[in-house]
Amino acid sequence: MPTTVQNYVDGEWVDSETGETFETTNPAAPNEVVGRFQRSSAADADRAVEAAAAATDEWANTPGPKRGRILERTARGLRERREELTEMLVREEGKAEPEAGGEVQRAIDIFGYFAGKARDVGGTVSGSSAPDRRLYTVEEPVGVAALITPWNYPIAIPAWKIAPALAAGATAVFKPATLAPAVSAAIVEELDEAGLPDGALNYVTGPGSVVGDAFATHPDVDAVSFTGSTMVGESLREAAAPDGKRIQLEMGGKNPVVVSEHADLERAVDVVAGGAFGVTGQACTATSRAIVHESLYDEFVDRLVERAESIEVGPGLEGYRMGPQVSESERDGTLDYVDAGQREGATLETGGGVPEGDRFADGHFVEPTVFSDVDPEMRIAQEEIFGPVVAAIPTTGFDDALEIANDVRYGLSAGIVTDDLTEANRFVDEIEAGVVKVNEGTTGVELHVPFGGMKASSSETFREQGEAGLDFFTISKTAYVN
Ligand code: NAD
Repeated sequence: MPTTVQNYVDGEWVDSETGETFETTNPAAPNEVVGRFQRSSAADADRAVEAAAAATDEWANTPGPKRGRILERTARGLRERREELTEMLVREEGKAEPEAGGEVQRAIDIFGYFAGKARDVGGTVSGSSAPDRRLYTVEEPVGVAALITPWNYPIAIPAWKIAPALAAGATAVFKPATLAPAVSAAIVEELDEAGLPDGALNYVTGPGSVVGDAFATHPDVDAVSFTGSTMVGESLREAAAPDGKRIQLEMGGKNPVVVSEHADLERAVDVVAGGAFGVTGQACTATSRAIVHESLYDEFVDRLVERAESIEVGPGLEGYRMGPQVSESERDGTLDYVDAGQREGATLETGGGVPEGDRFADGHFVEPTVFSDVDPEMRIAQEEIFGPVVAAIPTTGFDDALEIANDVRYGLSAGIVTDDLTEANRFVDEIEAGVVKVNEGTTGVELHVPFGGMKASSSETFREQGEAGLDFFTISKTAYVN
């Protein structure tokens, strides 16, 4: 049975004033409707902002430990629903089951982490050079935050914005992506159950260009935290900037793994395959370029192809390791890049098509794809594909590899596989990326350390996750008291 979800505004579950709804469908079986949601208007968004603005004093004045207890109860509520939410996530977004289970667990852990952090929000005391002076900082909540999230981590990314916002004492209006809003509604339900005051968090579904835009441009919104594509993020920056709103943008990637001549080849294949084909390549941190030393190149490509061909593609709920893409248009976008790669002269080593067989039905499946003989200037080596496609680029040495790795507009995550410590250190120092991995895949991050990108991957202003995640939602005041 599809779930029907209303908006959550000022502590009430309500229909949109439009009276219209939209549906989400199972990417592995698109005839199956997963959920029905409100197709909200700008007026619905405005009402949510009014509720959040009215709740700012009450929530800001709720003591940090009490805010933390509400987050802790939310974590507990989500934990009790782990299996249900995992299944819902697979059904709506298409991830393989272990990946979806890991993501739900990450959301639970994020709430647990910020439940603790809420106790520490408040400020710090410093020593002073004047004997009669008390010198300290006071952290105040930013006010109303707009939280706008993508479909590809439909519970973890909402969690990593909602939990620090509420821990910091900010109130929020939240718009999930239209392709997968069901699972994040569970966060809202659990916060409601946990005793969150009315208006402190509001959930409104609907088109990004309507609801997201209304949030980002509303004069009572003080801060906009967006994760999604670079194209939409850059338009939001323009829309929100004239008001002087605080803005945090985490956007696309074109993440490289450099395979040095000093690499363990098997490890390099593990690292690249995991990063390229995990979550069907639909991660902002997915590995989409393997920049490989010429001495290892042919063998690396052969082994990567073998690995790609061994991946069992199919519906996540039936135990397959690689699920479909989230929608027909995302899948078609990947296939267009496969065409572009071939037209530009790269060699399609494996994949590149839609798998055939009963289990694929009309699902949005695509084969794990490897290109070789890729020139760094080709579109498949420059643009974000957001599907399970990896471009193998040969290089002559470390300097050449580093230059290729940096020569894209993005700078989110990057890796090197090498047994040479000097090379590893130089890579960490010289790569233009917000996350750098040595002998590990570009995907997968820990929740208690900062996360964010450089260049067109990020606004570079504030980091998410860990303690840094709180900074965006707080404003610091420095007090000199004599
Ligand atoms: P998207 O940019 O299409 O949408 C993101 C969100 O913005 C959605 O909620 C959408 O409805 C909303 N939106 C769309 N148009 C809007 C507008 N005009 N005004 C306000 N909001 C609007 O991205 P997507 O397709 O949902 O997600 C995939 C993208 O997200 C990829 O580019 C991926 O790299 C990126 N991503 C980045 C990170 C990161 O942390 N850097 C993490 C995950 C995904």
